[in-house]
Amino acid sequence: MANHTDKISIETAASTKINTVDFSNLDFGRVFTDHMFVCDYNDGKWENPKIMPYQAMTFEPSARVFHYGQAVFEGMKAYKDDDGKVFLFRPKQNFDRINKSSGRLAMPAFPEDYFFEGLEALLKLDNDWIKPGVGNSLYLRPFVIATEPAISASPANMYRFMIICSPAKSYYNSAVRVLIADHYSRSANGGVGAAKAAGNYAAQFYPTSLAQKKGFQQVVWTDASTHTFLEEAGTMNVFFRVNDTLITAPTSDRILDGVTRKSIIQLAEDLGITCDVRQVTVEEIKNAAKDGSLKEIFGAGTAAVISPISAFEHQDELFEISGVGAEDSYAKLFKQTLLNIQHNLSDDKHGWRHEVK
Ligand SMILES: *Cc1c(COP(=O)(O)O)cnc(C)c1O
Repeated sequence: MANHTDKISIETAASTKINTVDFSNLDFGRVFTDHMFVCDYNDGKWENPKIMPYQAMTFEPSARVFHYGQAVFEGMKAYKDDDGKVFLFRPKQNFDRINKSSGRLAMPAFPEDYFFEGLEALLKLDNDWIKPGVGNSLYLRPFVIATEPAISASPANMYRFMIICSPAKSYYNSAVRVLIADHYSRSANGGVGAAKAAGNYAAQFYPTSLAQKKGFQQVVWTDASTHTFLEEAGTMNVFFRVNDTLITAPTSDRILDGVTRKSIIQLAEDLGITCDVRQVTVEEIKNAAKDGSLKEIFGAGTAAVISPISAFEHQDELFEISGVGAEDSYAKLFKQTLLNIQHNLSDDKHGWRHEVK
């Protein structure tokens, strides 16, 4: 993509809010750093990239995003090692994916130079918000919305790309209980499930709230046409350990191609663990739970890294998984291996760390 000559303009905050934040007690995604990155799309081009103090913004009530949901996002993290060096983890994957998501929603691609320059300038300004220590990170939320004030049902001609940042500890640390979907779906063949589209989340809040009333934190979605294949958890891809083999569903236009998922598949190969990427049926996992060969289920995503799953229910049959939290669990192994790479505590033989200099 063309290199832009427009420099990112920077307006710094008059004061910092950092002293008001209790970093030992963070509620995920509620506190934001002092600055944000903003860039607008007008007349067929992205222009005026800028960093400004984090603040409320005004949009016309007719802005298309409010009516037709043209909104996509990313989730990534910055990490700091004990020497104060700052790293991103496979950020090119997030860059490529936000443009893939945008393309699916008929939104324009964002330029690579602005994405990385904006991100790095922002991380330099808000560097003090990135705390060292394994488990600490700065969660980064790039997103794009349609801002054009017009409610005719067609793609917009004006968009805003932004990045906001929120200090985080890895959340969902305790094991979660999940309900396997047998009626609702989050995505369909040919739909937008593979895009990180805001509407995919809206669509799963209601069925997830029904699951929560029954005592489950998350839903594991199944294929929309038959509800027989296990797909993903809606914010996380899902892995099953049967005996010593890992199994995860192949990506498709219904499943988000997670960076954590693909990293685990590679790490499994490095560690000599067989990982089968294939369709996995609800039936086979229930049978494996009954005969004792199902050792673990875990979710994988940037926010929580790895989330062990301690129980699942399908059509009123409840299964508790015994291996959760075991010292030799794959969940622990992959979480530690990933965290060590992310925090610059181990070799990075695949070149996944991206230092922010
Ligand atoms: C973001 C997301 C994931 C996890 O992707 P990562 O790149 O690993 O963070 C999984 N499923 C869905 C639906 C998601 O939106």
